[in-house]
Amino acid sequence: MQRIKNYIDGELIAPHLGDYIENIIPATGEVYSLIPDSDEDDLTLAVYAAEQAQDKWANTSTEQRAKILCDLADLIDANADKLALAEAIDNGKPISLAKDVDIYRSAANIRFFAHAGTQFSSESHAMEDIAINYTLRDPIGIVGCISPWNLPLYLFTWKIAPALAAGNVVIAKPSEITPMTAYLFSKLCIQAGLPAGVLNILHGTGPNIGAPLVSHPKIKAISFTGGTSTGAHIAKSTSGMFKKLSLELGGKNPTVVFADCDFDDMLETVVKAAFSNQGQICLCGSRIYIERPIYEQFKSAFVEKVEEIKIGDPLEKDTQHGALVSEDHMNKILSYIELAKSEGGKILTGGKQVHLEGRCAYGYFVAPTVIENLGNNCRTNQEEIFGPVCTIIPFDTDQQALELANGSQYGLASSIWTNDLKRAHRMAKNIEAGIVWINCWLLRDLRTPFGGTKSSGVGREGGLEALRFFTEPKNVCIKY
Ligand code: NAD
Repeated sequence: MQRIKNYIDGELIAPHLGDYIENIIPATGEVYSLIPDSDEDDLTLAVYAAEQAQDKWANTSTEQRAKILCDLADLIDANADKLALAEAIDNGKPISLAKDVDIYRSAANIRFFAHAGTQFSSESHAMEDIAINYTLRDPIGIVGCISPWNLPLYLFTWKIAPALAAGNVVIAKPSEITPMTAYLFSKLCIQAGLPAGVLNILHGTGPNIGAPLVSHPKIKAISFTGGTSTGAHIAKSTSGMFKKLSLELGGKNPTVVFADCDFDDMLETVVKAAFSNQGQICLCGSRIYIERPIYEQFKSAFVEKVEEIKIGDPLEKDTQHGALVSEDHMNKILSYIELAKSEGGKILTGGKQVHLEGRCAYGYFVAPTVIENLGNNCRTNQEEIFGPVCTIIPFDTDQQALELANGSQYGLASSIWTNDLKRAHRMAKNIEAGIVWINCWLLRDLRTPFGGTKSSGVGREGGLEALRFFTEPKNVCIKY
């Protein structure tokens, strides 16, 4: 059985205790590889390696850093088929999605921040004829990057790329549920000539390696993407340590459909917004509010379209809906469907586990599920389910739509469908979310600020925001 290795000081090495966790294929339920169950001693090695590499990498020209990062991006492109296959096996997502979204974006993330690093500049503030201030932005030093399982290599690279481009050295921890592409990526780092110790990748669980990483005194900044409760735990465990924290957390995003929208365009996108990646994207629109005059029309067209989604083996090219990431996660989703029923919800389609034949007979598949007849304040509409489950609710006025959309502890993303320009601007201004899509969803420009409000997080990633996060500003004031 394949044993995944840590990547420390430029080498692939086994965890020092030799402990491993089983890695399961969600589409079949089989164990197919072993993941290092790293601990504090592995972290000590990684921190030492990072310390040795720190000054040299910080003093490497941005151009040279960009060149190495671009070489890495090219290697991702060259290995796209292999990486997409690994992602589909490890995560359960359809291979077409893995290739066109996950792996494509992983290379794009690295290339984007390689270039952004060379374009980064700092501010100066002139004080009439008295003085001039200029701001230096130096790398922070050793930073930690922790990523989740839903977009494994995509979110892993989204964090490490700006950190490295800005001249930091990194200790990164991918999710223990989907470690494979980060492991393959560490081999590409060696191939690209990334200097030893600049990036160190430790595999293992949240408690055994995530928690020590977060609270290590030499790691000065943590960029974390994951669940809100883990984010809260990290904030608590680092309080008093004065670390920089970027926390990208959970979501329960509203999709608001007004009667004047372009119906066909809306329908196609709203289905994707609800069910892409089996609903396991933090940006998925799982609370769908529809203006009452088109509620019935929407309901029947939406259900019909959702029923056309092809559920199947993630490795088949035409599969649109693969397996959920783990048995635990599948059981969580199924328990939420039961909860929805007990809260008075009516299942319009889906609502159950799907048993495929052949290779995937023991996989973790749940049908795309649409529920109506629930109020906004029930648990189904308040808690993040993070799976192929959405609810539909009618509304009558703009004000009511806004109250429903904002009636959540989360504030990550939103998608609004209308052709009324003034209404679009009004909704965009008043909706409590870090990201507002008007007449679209998941249209991403990597230069824009990315992140959430309320319980969806603290801080922003993307473009200059990420480079600012990964640098320490120092103001220099010179009197004339
Ligand atoms: P999770 O919080 O369980 O785990 C995320 C990562 O944190 C994993 O690598 C895990 O091992 C690690 N971890 C767990 N406990 C830790 C601890 N005490 N200290 C340090 N690290 C720890 O989340 P998940 O289940 O992997 O991912 C799903 C969640 O991520 C959902 O809530 C989803 O909304 C969220 N998410 C948010 C965004 C965003 O950009 N806001 C993007 C993707 C996913």
